[in-house]
Amino acid sequence: MSYDPNNIFAKILRGEIPNDTVHEDEDVLAFRDINPQAPVHVLVIPKGEYVSLDDFARDAPAEAVGRFFAKVGQIARDLGVAGEGYRLIANTGRHGGQEVPHFHVHILGGRSIGPMVVKR
Ligand code: 5GP
Repeated sequence: MSYDPNNIFAKILRGEIPNDTVHEDEDVLAFRDINPQAPVHVLVIPKGEYVSLDDFARDAPAEAVGRFFAKVGQIARDLGVAGEGYRLIANTGRHGGQEVPHFHVHILGGRSIGPMVVKR
C-alpha cells in the first residue's frame, strides 16, 4: 500500500488540522487522541511517511526505529503513566483494525486498561 499524503495524520503534521500536542521534535509528534479510550490516550507518530508498523519496521533505518521507541518510552514517562504502567498498541492493516494509514502507536494509561483483546 502506498502512502496517502491526504491521510488525517499527514494533515496534522502539515498543520492543516489542529491537535493537542504533548511532544514534538525533529522525528516524532505526540498528540492526544480525539476520541480517548482512557484518561491518558496519546498517539505517537513518526514524521516520516510510513503507512504502518509493517512499513516502518521494514523500511526505516534500524536506528530510526530504535529512536522512535526510545522516544515513546520517554513520552510515556513524561505523561506520568510509566509507574503504574500503560498499554502500547500499534494497529496494523485491515485485520489489525488500523483506521489511519500513517504509522502510529497508542499510549493508553491512567487506569487499568483491562483484557488484552475482547473475544467475539
Ligand atoms: P487506529 O485505529 O488507526 O489505530 O487509530 C486511529 C486513531 O486516531 C483513533 O483512536 C482515532 O480516535 C484517532 N483520530 C482520528 N482522527 C483524529 C484527529 O483528527 N485527531 C486526533 N487527535 N485523533 C484522531
